Amino acid sequence: SSLPPPRTRIFKIIVIGDSGVGKTCLTYRFCAGKFPDKTEATIGVDFREKVIEIDGEKIKVQLWDTAGQERFRKSMVQHYYRNVHAVVFVYDVTNAASFRSLPVWIEECRQHALGQEVPRILVGNKCDLRHAAQVSTDVAQQFADAHSMPLFETSAKNPYGSDDGGRNNSDHVEAIF
Ligand code: GDP
Ligand code: MG
Repeated sequence: SSLPPPRTRIFKIIVIGDSGVGKTCLTYRFCAGKFPDKTEATIGVDFREKVIEIDGEKIKVQLWDTAGQERFRKSMVQHYYRNVHAVVFVYDVTNAASFRSLPVWIEECRQHALGQEVPRILVGNKCDLRHAAQVSTDVAQQFADAHSMPLFETSAKNPYGSDDGGRNNSDHVEAIF
């Protein structure tokens, strides 16, 4: 007799941060392997999935790409945090305000994932625009250390190089999720 195929495990990751930091582009890059031609502002929540194989086992990575709009968040926020396996906080390295918002997102997460020891990571996006960076790696690393999170700097747009032709010295999106 043949056994039924094993159920694919689902790994739920929520991606959180200010509007415009590149959450949609990052999740698209991970799942579709490229930068989207055009993005529309996320309304509520978008899901993107990709099946990866770890040690011969298929794992469905489900990315919850969230939006910051207040009126959607109030009703959606419970769903975001339900059965979460990991949280990705994103800021834009060229936008200091998006970095300063992080404590608010971290606190929201703490309130909803209370009691859960959920792995969290910090991602600085848009490293292809390093010449316009407003948040240094040092400052970001200190913040990440203070919150016991690993820091990754990346670019959804150009993971391998910067717009000026140089290396942007960033982590590849594939290696982060
Ligand atoms: P979200 O609101 O966090 O989902 O942000 P989006 O993914 O919609 O991106 C907001 C804007 O930033 C769009 O115009 C994107 O084209 C741009 N963007 C996103 N990621 C990058 C990146 O890595 N580099 C650059 N230069 N622009 C990016
Ligand atoms: Mg979005």
